[in-house]
Amino acid sequence: MIDMSTTQASRARPSAIGSGALGAALPLLVLLVIGVTLPLFAGGYWGVIATRACVYWVLAAGLNLVVGFAGQIAIGWVALLTVGAYTTSVLAAGNVMPPLHPYLALAIAGVVGAVCGVIVGLPALRLRTFYFAITTLGFATIVTQIVLAWASVTGGGVGVAGPIFPAPFDTQWGFYYFCFGLAAICTWMTANIAKSRFGRALTAIRDAEVAAEANGISKPGLLVIVFLFSGATAAIAGGLFASLQSYITPDAFTIDLSVLFFISILIGGRGSILGPLLGTILLTVLPEFAAPLVAWSTFLYAVLLLAIVLVMPGGIAELLDFKSRRPLESNRAIIPRPDLLKRLLGQDTAPGTLTLEQVALSFGGVRAIDGLDLTILPGQVHGLIGPNGSGKTTTLNVISGYYTPQGGVARLNGVALTTLAHHARAHMRIARTFQTPRIVGEASVLENVMIGGTIDGRGTFVESLLALPRHWRDEKMLHETAMLALSAVGLEQLAGVRADRLQHSELRFIEIARALMLRPAFLLLDEPAAGLSAEEIRRLGALVVAISQAGTGVLLVEHHADLIFDICHHVTVLNLGKMLAAGTPAEIRSHREVVNAYLGG
Ligand code: ADP
Ligand code: MG
Repeated sequence: MIDMSTTQASRARPSAIGSGALGAALPLLVLLVIGVTLPLFAGGYWGVIATRACVYWVLAAGLNLVVGFAGQIAIGWVALLTVGAYTTSVLAAGNVMPPLHPYLALAIAGVVGAVCGVIVGLPALRLRTFYFAITTLGFATIVTQIVLAWASVTGGGVGVAGPIFPAPFDTQWGFYYFCFGLAAICTWMTANIAKSRFGRALTAIRDAEVAAEANGISKPGLLVIVFLFSGATAAIAGGLFASLQSYITPDAFTIDLSVLFFISILIGGRGSILGPLLGTILLTVLPEFAAPLVAWSTFLYAVLLLAIVLVMPGGIAELLDFKSRRPLESNRAIIPRPDLLKRLLGQDTAPGTLTLEQVALSFGGVRAIDGLDLTILPGQVHGLIGPNGSGKTTTLNVISGYYTPQGGVARLNGVALTTLAHHARAHMRIARTFQTPRIVGEASVLENVMIGGTIDGRGTFVESLLALPRHWRDEKMLHETAMLALSAVGLEQLAGVRADRLQHSELRFIEIARALMLRPAFLLLDEPAAGLSAEEIRRLGALVVAISQAGTGVLLVEHHADLIFDICHHVTVLNLGKMLAAGTPAEIRSHREVVNAYLGG
């Protein structure tokens, strides 16, 4: 879509993605080869353990999207393993109706699991962290109680025979290959998601929820899809588990097992596929080496968890991330290329006007904004200044749809903006940055910027899951656009670096690049010059001017009076939520009250 002839931008590309993708796939390929050739060098005993690791990973792979990517503390996922195990076994055994073919029973279990995944997951949309964790544990208890009580179907405490899959999967190694194949497919699918706009959006929800919404990412929509997928894989793992055990009773589905899944993802590391995969293998194999310790497993998990939190919060993934240990160049300069903006922003920034009319908003007794009028014109920079606490950020939050005003109205081209959903403003091409940068620290700079273009992708979740052509087209488009945005703000040489290794000033420019991905009709900047050097402020000023010249209306909240007076067409001064003055920079500079109250003579 966008022609990348720019030498700087294209030079940075291979190092950013090419080697990274190969480096990430290599360990997985090694595991694939080991897995396929395992029967050649391992005995039957290890075959059972390897099969168990595969079964656990089928569950953990899906759960990884919930825990490691979306950051939801789903501890009780064993509930879905139980649902899947019993659905498959009961249907294959014919306890309720004529026996079904085991494959059909397994597929139905997947569908039932997907539905249950959403039911278990739904509280995550309202509850946070530990409250959600407790509800998932509650579900695990409920499912076990139902299994015990519904003895006519499930066999109650006596249990039910697990399904036997037909030849060639009826032998020990045959069943191993069946489970290994499913585990490999789950790895491939979740790795596809991790590299897609959906995976990046999940990490944005996890680490920078407000920024995710400002970029048009709908948290409820995305989480429901992920719970569907994760529920389905967990239930399929349950069917395999029942077959591996050959006979299941409710005792087999302990909270310990649930904690094992959760911890294998934590020791693996957030936002990684390889890490949790190794974590799952480790936790499956470990008890075999230390059989006497099995009685201590709960205690060991607790110690392991503490050790991870304290010693290596990034888990195995961080341990293996050699690239991020290479020192960065220390004298880095951010040199924006405003000439690239025309190409990046295109011609389709529909000229319009953004107005606030008598907008008011209070927090308890504090009138944060109190009857504010404001007009932002396309192609102009509108400065918003005032002392701390005068309501600047709140004004920005009202425009970006984060707060609903209690009085007055915000209009875009005369049409009142409603605040039905936080993520709606991005679709109107209203973009913003934050007073404190909101970045996904564990993602690369490039990935952070690509998050800004999430809503421009066309492929569905399933298309990304299966790496279908539209997924690749989206990735290529987002990658090229993000590189162009990074070049425009002067950070393309850092594209492949983890964002949490950057300096504060660089984070501010990343946020601008991310906002530019929306091709904004309006761009709201909240103190972008805070923490920047004088030289950086000058370059920022030139960049903002160029953005406005490309047709975007800019609202600039700033404390640096020089920057405001240099580049703004119009300035509004706030004090205690009210407009103290408005006019051209020259008028404001000589406004007696403003000088007394704010500019300080
Ligand atoms: P500024 O950005 O100009 O420094 P803000 O818009 O952040 O000011 O804040 C304006 C006033 O509203 C302050 O008194 C602040 O304490 C209050 N305020 C802002 N957000 C909230 C909130 N979420 N809850 C309660 N009070 C808030
Ligand atoms: Mg503020």
